[in-house]
Amino acid sequence: MITKTKKLAGKVAVVTGASKGIGASIAKHLAAEGAAVVVNYASSKKGADAVVNEITKNGGKAIAVQANVAKQADINRLFAKTKRAFGQIDILVNNAGIYEFAPLESVTEEHFQKQFGLNVLSLIRASQAAVKLFGPSGGSIVNISSIVSTLGFPNAAVYSGTKGAVDAITRSLAKELGPRQIRVNAINPGMVETEGVHAAGIAESEMRKQVQAQTPLGRIGQPQDIATAAVFLASPDSAWITGETLTIAGGFH
Ligand code: NAP
Repeated sequence: MITKTKKLAGKVAVVTGASKGIGASIAKHLAAEGAAVVVNYASSKKGADAVVNEITKNGGKAIAVQANVAKQADINRLFAKTKRAFGQIDILVNNAGIYEFAPLESVTEEHFQKQFGLNVLSLIRASQAAVKLFGPSGGSIVNISSIVSTLGFPNAAVYSGTKGAVDAITRSLAKELGPRQIRVNAINPGMVETEGVHAAGIAESEMRKQVQAQTPLGRIGQPQDIATAAVFLASPDSAWITGETLTIAGGFH
């Protein structure tokens, strides 16, 4: 008889922005493989509690921690609480991010700072804090980037810029942290149906129709399409993979 052990048993994962959307699905999938998960959120306590409840109901371990990762003090608190609860970290998923679209003439400093502050600076700061808590056997950082980093979309200069930076940071940190056995990879999703996409009015838009029409697999993504890949990149199944950007977009290029 073959007994299947969970791929992430005994591991501890922090997922930023896990109260909804892609992050919530990643948190649930990591927990289903045995990881204890820190479900970070900024304002949606209800969403984060629901994710934690679902995980614990299924026999997993999770805690919800409020922290606006755009603020250094909140990042410090997030990782201090993680250390207190679980002692160490093996997996960091930098998922929290925002997408705002604007034509060039409407781009403002605020639009720039908000997106670069969260999508780029917070990712660096969270990685900095997490790496201090990784053990001697290293770990895995998974950055949620986007296909916009390589595909040109109009009205997305700033958002695309943030995700181009995420790809570059991923490759740089992979080289820097490789000797410590810390792997750093990115997932670059195409359009995924999330609360954020609904709130932005994209879910039923002309853009969705166009993307779907050009997608060989004929649909936009669902959060679990991304979460299963995050589990792969967090687990020893990808032990010799680092510095990669994995496009998951139903074949849309
Ligand atoms: P979403 O549905 O809007 O959810 C965003 C999550 O991030 C929420 O849990 C939110 O928490 C959290 N968050 C936002 N600001 C935060 C902050 N300052 N500190 C901590 N948490 C914060 O987003 P999504 O569509 O799942 O997108 C998640 C990631 O995937 C983003 O990096 C995005 O760029 C990337 N992505 C998305 C798509 C897509 O089509 N959906 C495609 C490619 C890439 P609260 O609810 O508590 O505010």
